[in-house]
Amino acid sequence: MVDELNKQLNDGLLEKRRELAENLLGAIEWETDTTGYCECPNIESHSTANGRRDCRVTVDGAPTIYCLHAHCQKRMEELSQELRKHIFAGEGRKRKRSEQPESEDLDFGAPIEPWGEPVDGQELLDDIIRVFSQHIVMPNFAYVAVGIWNLWTYGFEAFTVAPILQITSPERQCGKSLLMEILEALVHRPLLVCGVSAAALFRAIEAYRPTVLVDEFDSTDAELKEAIRQVLNSGFKKTGKVLRCVGENHNLKTFTTFAPKAIAGIGDLPDTVASRSIRIALSRKLQNETVESFRHFDGTEIRRKCVRWWKDNLDKLKNARPDFPVELKGDRERDGWEPLLAIADLCGDWGGYARQAAVALSKTDSTESLSAALLRDIRSAFRFDEQLTTEELLARLHGIVESPWPTLCDGKPIHAHRLAKMLARYAIAPGNIGAKRRKGYSAEWFEDAFSRYLPTEDQT
Ligand SMILES: [Zn+2]
Repeated sequence: MVDELNKQLNDGLLEKRRELAENLLGAIEWETDTTGYCECPNIESHSTANGRRDCRVTVDGAPTIYCLHAHCQKRMEELSQELRKHIFAGEGRKRKRSEQPESEDLDFGAPIEPWGEPVDGQELLDDIIRVFSQHIVMPNFAYVAVGIWNLWTYGFEAFTVAPILQITSPERQCGKSLLMEILEALVHRPLLVCGVSAAALFRAIEAYRPTVLVDEFDSTDAELKEAIRQVLNSGFKKTGKVLRCVGENHNLKTFTTFAPKAIAGIGDLPDTVASRSIRIALSRKLQNETVESFRHFDGTEIRRKCVRWWKDNLDKLKNARPDFPVELKGDRERDGWEPLLAIADLCGDWGGYARQAAVALSKTDSTESLSAALLRDIRSAFRFDEQLTTEELLARLHGIVESPWPTLCDGKPIHAHRLAKMLARYAIAPGNIGAKRRKGYSAEWFEDAFSRYLPTEDQT
């Protein structure tokens, strides 16, 4: 089914997508098959001069419209949703017509033929990780985690837990869809769920144990969203099942939900699941970071090698008891990383890198949201001052290396509007400060938020 979708995409589906985008947005200057620029539909609210490339449209993966101007953010969100609705609705009909309408069977193609000779673990993981690093910009340790997770999908049943790959980003256009696309080319039996019904999802997991890839979870339709939630909540352990009514007589049937899952664009995973997930936080690609186009990539060789590697190492992995880095303290974090560390230990140097990645990625704690990070950094900014003008506060945030603030707004530093918007959720707004009555913030206005949302004074 996935191959079928790809084929259709190449056979003119993209052309149709571009046409639908133009219907919605007017003339678009296409730079590539999937990316173009148009006049911003919200141009009247632009407060600075307009460039020809302010408003960007992409129609592959989850089609998205993005405008550089901060005021347009909300409108762009709505327009993107609308564009997706048009596009996905059209393609849903198309797919159903070309399949048997009564049957929801999924076709994962012929089984993958194992590579002809034994495969070296370190070289295989090198190859997998190289594919990701050539095509997408991620934090370094994310490559390690995603690469090992990818290899894990081929033999996940050797373990008793299935860590979820949770992909987040502070903004749209951070490559979540691209990451999904690469995973789709490399994981075992990929099932991208934007194109299946809830019933098909349960049957597919029961019958095929696919790797479930959920892109744009938040724009999925309600029935499928609920089904995905059930799968995520129950499917972490090998014994995970859901109960559903099937057929005309509404017979009860259990479906196993234990399978690899990667999910992008979700804000509220239940705590118990979130803490056992591997969280990959993508940030916006910087101007000087170039990556190769992924369009003609063929993952067959890597897939065949993954199958062969598992065939030769399955027994070792079933009994593996990897040791954990001391910094990885929580039982749940250890649960989630255990399969990945066990695999990395059979792949040479990657055993060490995997432990570093586990520590680094668990530190950017899944419970810390972007706004909590902002509060924490504002607390440091106020360390020696009672009051700061907006400019002063922004300058301090911009100066924090390895924080999201220098690149938060489309690769540019966080600005006064965005700051005010993010603080509004804590009921904090800029006011007049100092003798000159300049716009700014006073430390005492943050006290309540600091005490509610931040752990007691830390060392950072
Ligand atoms: Zn705009």
